[in-house]
Amino acid sequence: MRNEKGSLIRPVPLPNSASRPVVTPLSPSVVYASDTPDMLDRQYEGELHGYTYSREGHPNADVVAGLLDRMENAPNPGVLTSSGMAAVSAVLLGLLKAGDHVIGGNQLYGRSLRMMSEDLPRLGIETTLADPGDVQAVRAALRPETRMILVEVVSNPTLRVADMVGLAALAKETGVLLVVDNTFTTPRAYQPFEHGADIVIHSVTKLLAGHSDVMLGYVAARDPALNTRLRVFTVTAGMTPSPFDCWLAERGMLSFDLRFERCQQTAMKLADALGTLKGVKRVIYPARSDHPDHARAAELLQARWCNMVSFELDGGREAANAFTTAAEGLSFAPTLGDVGTTLSHPASSSHRALTAARRKALGMSEGFFRVSVGLEDPDILLAVFERAVDAAVKA
Ligand SMILES: *Cc1c(COP(=O)(O)O)cnc(C)c1O
Repeated sequence: MRNEKGSLIRPVPLPNSASRPVVTPLSPSVVYASDTPDMLDRQYEGELHGYTYSREGHPNADVVAGLLDRMENAPNPGVLTSSGMAAVSAVLLGLLKAGDHVIGGNQLYGRSLRMMSEDLPRLGIETTLADPGDVQAVRAALRPETRMILVEVVSNPTLRVADMVGLAALAKETGVLLVVDNTFTTPRAYQPFEHGADIVIHSVTKLLAGHSDVMLGYVAARDPALNTRLRVFTVTAGMTPSPFDCWLAERGMLSFDLRFERCQQTAMKLADALGTLKGVKRVIYPARSDHPDHARAAELLQARWCNMVSFELDGGREAANAFTTAAEGLSFAPTLGDVGTTLSHPASSSHRALTAARRKALGMSEGFFRVSVGLEDPDILLAVFERAVDAAVKA
């Protein structure tokens, strides 16, 4: 509407169109206008669907959450959050209270571990870390106050596979909530809700959005009351994602299936190729028969495996430096799930705070690398790795 002096003021009417856009429109509006107080009332009462204020929800978030709900076969509509860690935080801070106890996998994502070891105890929530591949160890950590078990299906960066069947049975037997961070596996390799999980978390930032240009998270719960509590807590705590990030994530996710198929096929080729190279001490990939959890991975992951390959070079830091220098075109960057292949070196990044002896015990020497395989031509990628490993051998 133009006022009489012709100055511009909202609302500017949208051009009329009998046809609709094919692409989801980006809706950056923070506020939504209603026609009357009666209409707004009916909206709050749930009789009409509508948005009010974008921290409480907006169309771009609902579109992406809807895609994830379908991929995960979620029993209730999930909540989108501003990052994967916001989703982890929503579960831990939004559902637990002082006096509760939570068991976490001992190789969780670094910030999840930090939340378990630093932040929850400060709030009076006790935590224990246990090996999710060993149900007896998790059982031994149970207490009368234990409320939840938080695990990842495939651990980072050593790619060990959790005993999901055993953990689901333990959770069912004891009434403890099983919370699964499904970021690494993605819903195409593993669907936690189909296997007894109570809550599923994603860092959409990684493979799902897939272009390293958006941070986003997702969480959904089986129990409707818990699902509602998660939604209310994320709104109260301001964990809501921005419409533009959701819009970008939707765009990325539409090609997820193709990207995932391609990069996990290349990952398998790369793992096998690395296994034949002089200068490579060992290769870790769950599809390989020499992987310690191969049988379990084969059962859980339905031959979808993952796009992550870890390996260990002979030699120390010098070999590692020579490797990244020679790995032309690959980003030495600590993330995963990008369109391009990325390398991470735990000894200098995610695990740098540990002593060398502790890293050695975890199998992460100076020669240890984690590869997130991208969409490059597999033959070209393999050639780059061959040259880079060769440079490491000569260093
Ligand atoms: C990256 C990651 C997270 C955190 O997600 P952000 O989007 O970076 O906040 C949580 N869990 C796993 C397994 C991750 O890889």
